[in-house]
Amino acid sequence: MDIKEKNKLIRKVNSLLLKKFGKPYRNEKLPDPVDLLIATILSQNTNDNNSYKAYQNLKKKFPDWKMLLGVSASEIEKEIKIAGLGKQKSNAIKNFIESLYKENKSLKLDTLKNKENISAIKKLTEYKGIGVKTASCVLLFAFDKDVCPVDTHVHRTVNRLGIVQASTPDKTFFLLNEKFPEGIAHSFHTNLIRLGREICKPKNPACGICPLNKICKYEEKIFENSRKNENRSFMLLDNV
Ligand code: SF4
Repeated sequence: MDIKEKNKLIRKVNSLLLKKFGKPYRNEKLPDPVDLLIATILSQNTNDNNSYKAYQNLKKKFPDWKMLLGVSASEIEKEIKIAGLGKQKSNAIKNFIESLYKENKSLKLDTLKNKENISAIKKLTEYKGIGVKTASCVLLFAFDKDVCPVDTHVHRTVNRLGIVQASTPDKTFFLLNEKFPEGIAHSFHTNLIRLGREICKPKNPACGICPLNKICKYEEKIFENSRKNENRSFMLLDNV
């Protein structure tokens, strides 16, 4: 599939998902990129409710991220326990804050705003513990760029739909984001996650009630199972 066809399909999927789920909630004011990056680290491998609580705990204890410069990773870990992977996440947060401050003598990421998307991702992934997904969330949620981050739900659904064919989320990310269509990345990303959580589940997708079943290329569609998971539309990164 060439880029033109890929983008046409992305737009079609986006409009069908908007019809089904509506326009996803988004804070009117874009969050601070450093806040967003820390929230994204906390969101790995856990649900949005737990990572939201961990984020609130951390922010309450350290209202200014500069305060993290003087603390040990274990002090950070204490505050974020509820989100799991405490050691890994606290080390990633500490390393990021210290490296950023060392480089800029401030905790700002604003210079990334004018960078081209792929070089901004390259820059962010140079920090130990920050992967392509975290970097791309910063670009979408904090800078409102035309970038669709790829988590496990987006990876599974865009591959089933036939928009890309790739074996890992990072490979999917680079194929999906080649000249991504303008102005729809937030709704496409957020509604696809909702589709993946409620309908296009890893096992037993509920294809019978899926708004995309006429255009989906997945060969193992299941029509007997029309049960949808509960509505799980709360998204941490729209509430930072
Ligand atoms: S038709 Fe089935 S496999 Fe395709 S996107 Fe919908 S739920 Fe997923």
